[in-house]
Amino acid sequence: MKVFSFSDEYFQQSQSALDLALDTAPVYKAWRALDPGKQAPVDARYAVLPELTKQDMRESFPQGLVPENRDVAQGIKNQEIEYVQTSGTTAERVTNLWNQAWWDASEIASWKLNAHTAHLDGTQPEAQLTSALSVGFRSQGDLPMAERRLGRFLFLNEKVSAREWTDAHFERMAAELDEYRPEVLEVNPSWLARLAWWALDHGRQVVSPRVILFTYEFASALHVRDIRRVFQSPLISSYGATETGYVLMECEHGTLHQNTDFCRIDFEPLKPEHGGPDLGRLLVTTFKNPWTSLVRFDVGDLVRLDPRPACPCGRREGMRVLAVEGRAANVTFTHTGRLVTTKEIDDCLARVEGARDYVLDQVTRQTCRLQLVAPENPMSAAREARQRLETLYGPGVEVTVELQADLEPSPSGKYRRTRALFDYDIKGLFK
Ligand SMILES: [Zn+2]
Repeated sequence: MKVFSFSDEYFQQSQSALDLALDTAPVYKAWRALDPGKQAPVDARYAVLPELTKQDMRESFPQGLVPENRDVAQGIKNQEIEYVQTSGTTAERVTNLWNQAWWDASEIASWKLNAHTAHLDGTQPEAQLTSALSVGFRSQGDLPMAERRLGRFLFLNEKVSAREWTDAHFERMAAELDEYRPEVLEVNPSWLARLAWWALDHGRQVVSPRVILFTYEFASALHVRDIRRVFQSPLISSYGATETGYVLMECEHGTLHQNTDFCRIDFEPLKPEHGGPDLGRLLVTTFKNPWTSLVRFDVGDLVRLDPRPACPCGRREGMRVLAVEGRAANVTFTHTGRLVTTKEIDDCLARVEGARDYVLDQVTRQTCRLQLVAPENPMSAAREARQRLETLYGPGVEVTVELQADLEPSPSGKYRRTRALFDYDIKGLFK
């Protein structure tokens, strides 16, 4: 594993977050016996502790993660916190105590990690383009612009699937970006790609906001390519979760830097045969949230550490990540059983001429089914995609390709681009 630099304050925050959690938050009671004690080096203390699971969180809700015997009912009454449920399948879903002030502070700290966002202070006009299941207002009927406004935010979409968009919705999005002129456009890249395809297919110009932030899900290289053809804005990935706040932010040199003011990261590598030691998962511990002690929480994604001694941007502190490679739950396997991340599939399909989008299901270890969107030259794209994937997965893995006009997001409003449909031991892939 790479060695990164951390300030004394980071270690102090790590220590006080851990002491507070172990001493006072009910869910960690069973962890106390494992702690080597407050005199031990803080990294060694974290290293022997288990991970916090969503099941732990659900079973101990609402008081389990709350430190210092704070009263949740009182916090809600005082409007310091509210209940917020994350999206996803039943196994993934968790209700959180949402503390808006802490969330905003975490976001502002993350903006400092990119020169294009460092000036933002949370007052600038911002537009959002994602599923209405992720954020904003949800409606089957169309909502006028005024009913999709909230404070400094404009939500460009009120639908749960981009397949509900008609020409009139695309026209409306383009017109509203022109009228509202957001400084920041925060998007799910899969959803913005669909606006970009409309603009490309109709020869239309769309106003470029000062910055475009990618969040909510893995950004496909196919989508980034087409978004760049329409928007001149810097495209910046911001990585976090409802539970953790803002964890990583992409700098102007394309490296993701840790938001060290607001979180600690413990990195757990995969076994070398599956991409370790640079590829692994993140266990996140949050700092300074008075209502939630989150310690060693697995956000569920695989990331690749930056092997270089430093990033050219000059930021020295914290972990650096070259790429978020997709969710651990969305890995597939080659014919030899080696783990394949979503990013590896994505890089492979990004080379297919004319491909726009895809969903890959590995049905058995020997068979994959690719749904492919490639409107310009579908037959040759399908042939090339199949050949490239069969080379990647290796002999004995058969790939079938189904051409699609477009794809549906999953029930959470996000797109799941790859997954294995058979059971495998994910824990056994880690060191
Ligand atoms: Zn950098």
